[in-house]
Amino acid sequence: MRHQIDAYLRPFQLNQLLHEHTAHVLSVLPDEVLSDVMGEPGVLFCDIDARPGVIFQVPVKSPTCGGAARSVVLKRTLCRRPVDFVRWLIAHEIAHAHLKNGGRWEGDDPELAADALAADWGFPRPLSF
Ligand SMILES: [Zn+2]
Repeated sequence: MRHQIDAYLRPFQLNQLLHEHTAHVLSVLPDEVLSDVMGEPGVLFCDIDARPGVIFQVPVKSPTCGGAARSVVLKRTLCRRPVDFVRWLIAHEIAHAHLKNGGRWEGDDPELAADALAADWGFPRPLSF
């Protein structure tokens, strides 16, 4: 599946830099997470131009029985941020999608859970941003 990452991401038509960073993050995910993200029903990726006055659409798959619709939305302004921040944020958002916006256990804070998974995958939250 790892050799299919680039082909998997291409239809999302991400900004080239965001495509490369997302491919890097995906390439180091544990097998079960990668299968969850790239499998069916998987996760949709998109980038948005989030300037005031710009209208954008976020693609969402139809939810399936027992399966949530999951999208990872990346602002194009990320391209101006340091690499460690960009990769942490992508990993953090993938973690939210993997956890279906929940925690790792009942009562777990979804934000802390996403940060913990991202760190486990090699993308710790930058100390300052
Ligand atoms: Zn978050």
